[in-house]
Amino acid sequence: MGNLQTNLEKYADLILRAGLNIKPGDRLMLYINQNSLPLAREVTKRAYQLGVDGVVNRFTDGAFTRALLEHGSETALTWVPDWQIQHDISAFEDNCHRLSIYAEDPQLLKGIDAQKISARSKATSMANRPVMRYTLENRVKWLVVAAAAPEWAQTVFPDLPVETAVEELWRLIFKATRVDQNDPIAAWESHDKSLKIHEKWLNDQNFASLYFKAPGTDLIVRLPAHHIWKGGSAKTAKGEKFIPNMPTEEIFSMPHAYGVDGTVRATLPLSLRGSLIDDFSFTFKDGEIVDFSAGQGEDVLRELLATDEGAGRLGEVALVSVSSPIYQSGVLFKNTLFDENAACHFALGAAYSENILNGATLTDEEKREQGMNTSMIHVDFMIGSAELDVTGRRADGTEVPILRAGEWVI
Ligand code: ZN
Ligand code: ZN
Repeated sequence: MGNLQTNLEKYADLILRAGLNIKPGDRLMLYINQNSLPLAREVTKRAYQLGVDGVVNRFTDGAFTRALLEHGSETALTWVPDWQIQHDISAFEDNCHRLSIYAEDPQLLKGIDAQKISARSKATSMANRPVMRYTLENRVKWLVVAAAAPEWAQTVFPDLPVETAVEELWRLIFKATRVDQNDPIAAWESHDKSLKIHEKWLNDQNFASLYFKAPGTDLIVRLPAHHIWKGGSAKTAKGEKFIPNMPTEEIFSMPHAYGVDGTVRATLPLSLRGSLIDDFSFTFKDGEIVDFSAGQGEDVLRELLATDEGAGRLGEVALVSVSSPIYQSGVLFKNTLFDENAACHFALGAAYSENILNGATLTDEEKREQGMNTSMIHVDFMIGSAELDVTGRRADGTEVPILRAGEWVI
């Protein structure tokens, strides 16, 4: 790809200007690994050109993670020192904004004991709760993007030679993020506008519940009284606009953690902790998963659901039309950032406080009372397809079609 360098520069510029809306005087904290470096270097250069007052890195590497999980002692496995948490908090308090560049091997954790993975992720999620609040509550500007990693590209295109697979993955990333367009920033402005139209319509409807119907799916999802739909750009507490995910095609809200009933079947495999969970479905009663099955990866799924009380309940409901460019590509990315923007989805675990009125100021007790999931995990799974109908029900019982055959009706 002769123009990879040009596209990386366009991507870096888009990330900083349209994504993070970086202003002179802002600082940047990058979460990167070995595969994100070419993009991270462009981002750093462009960030200084745009007048940021500092860039810091949180670097990890797939091999480090595997070494810990394979050979680490029980103590090492759950060691998340408080000084590291304080480091991140201090950085956010010092006007650092967060950019994560996803470039992981989806198979990274393959073959590792599910209980070890669960112990590690439980320890990190628990320790990171005070850090996560900065992004969950939009106290800082934050953004998740992706970079093509060789191992990732090979998982997506197992039949291509690795260099070709990487080129093809970059091509799809640039397409999904609109970097391939002449003016990506203008393209994002107009895309954001159209997401905001659906967001506003759903908020105006103020549905009491949603009904999902598709082969293997027959599910009623109650929505909390003061739920809020969000899509596209977000705003920090100080009112600064940013785009938390690139790509993004979803309009999402908060299901009532105690008000989900029926059965739902996933329409795409879920790549989780290095394993692939496929052909799976859940049965809910009063919001709780009371039964589940998976054709593949059932043990990983069982571990996940056992993480805490909220792990077996929903925390996000998201609507995506099948005309999404990611759905249209027909590619399974085995990466949530892309796959969640291909199709309608739910998340197991925590809800976002931006999805309920005054969410950031509620106590844990109040959150539970309002039906907000406060789990330590947040894992998306896809349920959308060209066979999915979604209908909204108002409090007075009237029904309004939202999606028919996977497409927006409105
Ligand atoms: Zn989502
Ligand atoms: Zn999600």
